[in-house]
Amino acid sequence: MTRRLEGKPVAEALNSTTRTAIAARGDRRAPCLVSVHRDVDSPFRFYLKRQARAAADVGVEFRDEGVGDATRPDALVARLRQLAGDPGVDAVLVEHPLPAPFDFTTAVGELPLAKDVDGVSPGNLGRLVVQRPVQVPAVALAAIAIARHYELPLEGEPVAVLGRSETVGLPLALLLVSRAPGTNATVTLLHSRTRDLARALAGSRTIFSCVGHPGLLDRTVVPEGAHVVDIGLSSVPDPSRPGGTRSAGDADPTALEGWAASLTPVPGGVGPVTVAELMASATRAWSWSGPGGRVP
Ligand code: NAP
Repeated sequence: MTRRLEGKPVAEALNSTTRTAIAARGDRRAPCLVSVHRDVDSPFRFYLKRQARAAADVGVEFRDEGVGDATRPDALVARLRQLAGDPGVDAVLVEHPLPAPFDFTTAVGELPLAKDVDGVSPGNLGRLVVQRPVQVPAVALAAIAIARHYELPLEGEPVAVLGRSETVGLPLALLLVSRAPGTNATVTLLHSRTRDLARALAGSRTIFSCVGHPGLLDRTVVPEGAHVVDIGLSSVPDPSRPGGTRSAGDADPTALEGWAASLTPVPGGVGPVTVAELMASATRAWSWSGPGGRVP
């Protein structure tokens, strides 16, 4: 039987630590996280609701800010500059992905390292490369938190990451090869130009998939007995559901049942832990700016 790696207990443990840190604040204000986005209907709106709920649950003050004109990158950059200098704001999340003519990397580069709560600015990614992280992408932290909670084989083991985006796959691969205790994995990084997926994955004990292609991982590519952390999140047609769609990961859970040693469900796996990690990162930024605190 394939073990189901639920995100809920991992998220609950993280949220409990975050709540305790905030509750110990005395008369200091609560951490403040601002989520900045274009005023258009985009898939990001779905995440805003989850962020607001999670923030209320742990005691983070959450503001959801539209930047008005959806076609003007300068409006976004100007607002990010203001937030960068606002002492009442600890953490800023920027809608991702952003369509042209927006340049996501330039926009998040306006934020100080601590306030770039999802760790996606060039400065934060560089700090990860030199193993002196400040903020790290929440989804990468979440994938590692799940692997640690369920004691998946990482240290010294052959581990594969599918996807090399700057915001998900690449930072996750960097965390996995880091010298921190419990990681030190031997990582193979796969992408769309990888010729033979099955051959590249052969021998992998743990597989992290961050692609966004439902059904990509089945018995033809996943080695028997591997552990799979499914980060992919796509919407697929499902006439039996009220909205006519459902969420799906990269793995085919039916095909992998009884074949993979363990698998995270989608939804309910990496997703809730990512939001919990985001609140934890916002709270860390707040503690760095408080009495006796300093940015690492
Ligand atoms: P992205 O920017 O589109 O990157 C996808 C990556 O997958 C690229 O590196 C691409 O390679 C690679 N790829 C495409 N086809 C492949 C194949 N057949 N085999 C191996 N690699 C392949 O997407 P992203 O922003 O990194 O997000 C990845 C997935 O994670 C999405 O489904 C997203 O919704 C999900 N996500 C989930 C969470 C969560 O909390 N659960 C958070 C963030 C993102 P190239 O570089 O060659 O194009």
